[in-house]
Amino acid sequence: MNVNRQLTVNFSLSEEQRAWRMKAREFAREEIRPISLQRDRIEGGFAPWDWEIIRKGSRLGFRTLAVPRDWGGPGADFVTQGLVMAELARGDSAISKAFSQNWKWSHQIAEFCSHDQKERFLKPFLADDTYLMGSASTETNAGSDNRYPPEHAPKSGWRLRAERSGDEWILNGEKTFIANGSVGKLFFVSTRTNPDVAIRDGTTVFLVPLGTPGFRIGKIFNKSGWRFYQNAELIFEDARVPHANVVGEVHGGVKVRSGAAAEFGDLELAANALGICAAACEYAMQFARTQRRGGKLLFDHQLVQLKLNEMHMLTEALRSYVMRTAWEMDHKLQGVNAVLVMNYSTTVIQRVTELNLDIHAGAGTGMDAMADKLARDGIIWTHLAGDATQRLKAVRRFPK
Ligand SMILES: Cc1cc2nc3c(=O)[nH]c(=O)nc-3n(C[C@H](O)[C@H](O)[C@H](O)COP(=O)(O)OP(=O)(O)OC[C@H]3O[C@@H](n4cnc5c(N)ncnc54)[C@H](O)[C@@H]3O)c2cc1C
Repeated sequence: MNVNRQLTVNFSLSEEQRAWRMKAREFAREEIRPISLQRDRIEGGFAPWDWEIIRKGSRLGFRTLAVPRDWGGPGADFVTQGLVMAELARGDSAISKAFSQNWKWSHQIAEFCSHDQKERFLKPFLADDTYLMGSASTETNAGSDNRYPPEHAPKSGWRLRAERSGDEWILNGEKTFIANGSVGKLFFVSTRTNPDVAIRDGTTVFLVPLGTPGFRIGKIFNKSGWRFYQNAELIFEDARVPHANVVGEVHGGVKVRSGAAAEFGDLELAANALGICAAACEYAMQFARTQRRGGKLLFDHQLVQLKLNEMHMLTEALRSYVMRTAWEMDHKLQGVNAVLVMNYSTTVIQRVTELNLDIHAGAGTGMDAMADKLARDGIIWTHLAGDATQRLKAVRRFPK
């Protein structure tokens, strides 16, 4: 937490931040929301995906928002990123995530990649509206283990093996549930370069572009929520990756995955949850103000008012926490708020979407499709970036 108490509290946004928020709000209203339910209803793993919305959003700068100005990107700060994610997620959470998943790796490229790697990967990323990125750490037996490993246990965490062979590394193993997996052109792959020590000491991250010999995409997952968002297996069979694609240092994998990129990952999910909560409040109000039960509008029933009140109160509390965390990250204030706000957002999103379902369905109407979708999307938070129970171990990051 460690917030410098000398700093003045100021909740106003800059003109640039307001402009990005407005651009995202309009794009969400005009382009994303009209296709949200329609894409969600399409059966299949890949089928709900739509390149057209990605191209349109990319042309407006939403794919490359976090690329630093030195490299030709907008270089948006964390507050702007939080605002944009929440606005896009209010239109559709899964579509918002398909854009923001790239921002995480923009931070990593900026922070850890060499000039040569930036030339080879950041330039094509900027130039191509369909260039998406992903990060591969989860394996069948290593999900939360990658983030909350039993201390010093060499057997915990990812096992995908990388062995050096001259100027190349040979990768063998599988990753699962990797976001942007079936649509990405570049992946940050976490590997084991020393299987006998804990992941803190024996892991290395590689840049693996699509088309690398021995690397292919496996199964694409058909999920109950976030159906637009793509999750797939990545399979490595003697995949040959040049040494020049090591991110940071050999055995320095955990360092690459911590810092700004990890904090961003938590902020990203909390800001996205805020968008869903805002949408749930909006739909619940709309429904309560137009539907009559017991001879009056639902809105005029005290029980419904209590539910609406709780939804708004939790959503506004989440908004304050998200924006405070983003602001602290912009001011490089070290703390634990990013991981705590992610945990908080899990509780809030599931409560707010449940109350929205209650208001829609509990009064005797049929299940409203959008209320159902928001609740299905909200359930995903239990299984992101560590499972919801393991994430409670975040308390161990408190300063001594
Ligand atoms: C939509 C979506 C997108 C994702 N995107 C990505 C991605 O882009 N890249 C990526 O690498 N991964 C991704 N994942 C995977 C995600 O990070 C994992 O699902 C998450 O970390 C939880 O891991 P798990 O599902 O293996 O569950 P586990 O962590 O294995 O948990 C299973 C059960 O075991 C319990 N458990 C775990 N560890 C312990 C322990 N030490 N002691 C006691 N109990 C324990 C848990 O509490 C839980 O009940 C994504 C997942 C989803 C759903």
